[in-house]
Amino acid sequence: MNTALASHILQPADLALATRIRAVTSRIIEAPTRRKHKLSNTSIAHQGYVLVQVTLDNGVTGWGEGSTLGGPRWAEESVEAMKANIDAYLVPALIGQPACDLETATTLMDRACKRNFSAKSALDMALLDATAKTLGVPAHALLGGAQQTSFSAIWALASGDAGQEVEEAREMISKGWFNRFKIKLGFADPATDLNRLGALQKALPAGTDIIADVNQGWSEGECIRYLPKLSDLGVSLIEQPLPADQMGAMARVARRSSIPIMMDEGVFTTTEAFDGCAQAAGAVLSLKLCKHGSVHRLKQVAAIAQAAGVDLYGGCLLESSIGASAHLHAFATLPKLHWGTEHFGPKILIEDLTRDGLRYENFRVHLPTGPGLGITPDPERLDRFARKD
Ligand SMILES: [Mg+2]
Repeated sequence: MNTALASHILQPADLALATRIRAVTSRIIEAPTRRKHKLSNTSIAHQGYVLVQVTLDNGVTGWGEGSTLGGPRWAEESVEAMKANIDAYLVPALIGQPACDLETATTLMDRACKRNFSAKSALDMALLDATAKTLGVPAHALLGGAQQTSFSAIWALASGDAGQEVEEAREMISKGWFNRFKIKLGFADPATDLNRLGALQKALPAGTDIIADVNQGWSEGECIRYLPKLSDLGVSLIEQPLPADQMGAMARVARRSSIPIMMDEGVFTTTEAFDGCAQAAGAVLSLKLCKHGSVHRLKQVAAIAQAAGVDLYGGCLLESSIGASAHLHAFATLPKLHWGTEHFGPKILIEDLTRDGLRYENFRVHLPTGPGLGITPDPERLDRFARKD
């Protein structure tokens, strides 16, 4: 081989040595949000993350973030449990391993710890960030390369107050950040929620895309009764109306609904993705690292959905620019993200956790450029928002 060329090629053994995981630190971050964010079963005024920083033998650091929503209510993980499991079980399984072996890292983490997908995804994205920085390439280059570099962006309206939500939606449109909206239902009785939705639909420009997320809040009977009303109000998509473990009931509802149903809390693992798609529990599937546990698993879930003819949606759990950028790198490698992505988390925080932030422009969120995840965490803000024990 040409010796000049050979000197530029990193040998596999060199990469494994350079990216050996030397240390990992984890911190609970509590970042204030612009307003309360309500779900059918909780409400938050600050967003909790577990931030991990991985240091490799070559001195490169990588960042990752595990997100939750107000304790173990959206799913089983809380920031406290995530940090405890990261420190006691997941980090010891990874120390000394090459960060570049991302799939091996996932296997080791699965052996050390069942489920805990948000905690695992924080470490997975930090390893991806550090490896890509070592190679001087953007993270998506290690996942197959970007097929798209920006995504139609969706903002979640979740205060439960119709007047406030109309004002907030108008502000997002005027800023050019978001012109598609997801409304959280299930706070109140369905009739009250439908009035709120009606007020919003009337106040927003004609044709505004509105998605409804029930967060497992309705029964099959309530779905049969109220989904036609959501259809009359022009809702384009309904997210996880039924409890996560009622896939059969979701499938019955999906069969009779004139609006596509999206699987969210019901699909964490590849097996759940297969079962949900095989039962036709929804025509759309929401992809989230906190559910799938790693960028590669997210892509496997996406492949199962694609094989079943199920559309893809880029879900979020209010991640900051750190977690959101990891999602965008994974989404960018998919041939199609039919419904765009919500990833509004960076804009619901009063202060971005990174110096650069994500770019929201022309109602699209843009894939960061630069090596690794392409974002630079702000140490001063992280110190300020870190939970003090
Ligand atoms: Mg959801």
